[in-house]
Amino acid sequence: MRLVILGRDGVINSAAQLPVCTVEQWRPIPGSLQAIARLNQANLLVAVATNQPGLARGDLSLDNINAIHARLHHQLNRVGGHIDGIFFCAHGADSGCPCHKPAPGLLQQMLGRFDVPASEAVMIGDQPSDAMAARACGIPSLGIRSDRPVVRNDTAADSPLYDNLAQAVAALLDNRP
Ligand SMILES: [Zn+2]
Repeated sequence: MRLVILGRDGVINSAAQLPVCTVEQWRPIPGSLQAIARLNQANLLVAVATNQPGLARGDLSLDNINAIHARLHHQLNRVGGHIDGIFFCAHGADSGCPCHKPAPGLLQQMLGRFDVPASEAVMIGDQPSDAMAARACGIPSLGIRSDRPVVRNDTAADSPLYDNLAQAVAALLDNRP
């Protein structure tokens, strides 16, 4: 395993209120930043794959998403962690673009950028669309029960499910060959 791909909303930060449009609305889930630092310490690449359709709708500006990600990098830095790349789909859910999860385009782009085969990557997400995008690429996935106010359907039922990123990372590192 070389690359861990994380969803953002519901994995790193609270998804109780979406979309996250300002730095003030971005609230990390307790333990998630430390979990990312653990992945870094294990010499794994860590990257984020997130759908941000608010950009296409106009409720989220590029300036604001950049500020949110600067805050994420800054807070991670304070706990000794870092993220190697943040990849986002800026298109609408109905745009038919190839990168809106569950489409596999964003994850494929990441495998190419980091030059990592799908078998050496893992996806951790809180949405069935994360597991579906991963499956389409041949990437194994883990699920997280998030505070997102959407009922989780059964399409990702074959992914192991954890209460939060800290638990998923602990399981991932414990089971590492
Ligand atoms: Zn897209």
